Amino acid sequence: MTAKSTKPAYTRPEVSSEPENELESVIASAQELLRWEKSLGGQGFPRSEPIAPLPATIGEVRASEAIEDSEARLQVLAEQAAACSRCELSKGRSKSVFARGTSDTDLVFVGEGPGYHEDQEGVPFVGRAGQLLDRMITAMGYPRDGVYICNVVKCRPPDNRTPLPSEAAACAHFLIPQLELVRPKVIVALGRCAAENLQCVPPAGRWRGIWGEWRGIPVMPTYHPAFLLRSPQFKKPVWEDLQAVLGILNRELPKRDR
Ligand code: URA
Repeated sequence: MTAKSTKPAYTRPEVSSEPENELESVIASAQELLRWEKSLGGQGFPRSEPIAPLPATIGEVRASEAIEDSEARLQVLAEQAAACSRCELSKGRSKSVFARGTSDTDLVFVGEGPGYHEDQEGVPFVGRAGQLLDRMITAMGYPRDGVYICNVVKCRPPDNRTPLPSEAAACAHFLIPQLELVRPKVIVALGRCAAENLQCVPPAGRWRGIWGEWRGIPVMPTYHPAFLLRSPQFKKPVWEDLQAVLGILNRELPKRDR
């Protein structure tokens, strides 16, 4: 003989076969099931654990991780440049000059190579030409450090001469990953040397103000600020080039105080 169960029996309510009554029947069925569970001492369906709030958006999180990652890789490149001996320029350097500004930007300026002050401080464009470049950047509406600035070569050429093709080729080991990691929307090539090394000088004729492209990034080749210090009459066309850059970036000129 089997012992008689003291537990109340569960009676499954009728589920209507009429489509319009189906939802009501399912609800009634669930309620009946819960009542029955409660009568057994249960508490109905267990509460789920509170769900941890989702990060702002997955896209944003990925973007900020990517920025951190490229900054870490740029840092490694800068350390490698400081220890580099790929060309003769390394023998004369006080400090290697990797970059200044922010890698989280839509705009990069590429110059030629460090001069005396840059070599002393290890920072690009800190001499007179750099001060003019800073004025150009702020006139465009960027904070001084809101762009990324680097050079074709990371060590000072003797007597500030133009880097030799072999020196530029050796330093492309740094410039190429540097630009790939920052991946701005536009690059401004400051001077013919930078424009040539970004392969943005047409085989003949005018080169300043003619849009080029480096690995899918638009490049605006313009005159170098050191040249503008000697020949200020060319500031106007350079300003036109920088306005064309702002146009591509969909940025407006900042309003001037009168
Ligand atoms: N000229 C350059 O091309 N780069 C510098 O960093 C300074 C002067």
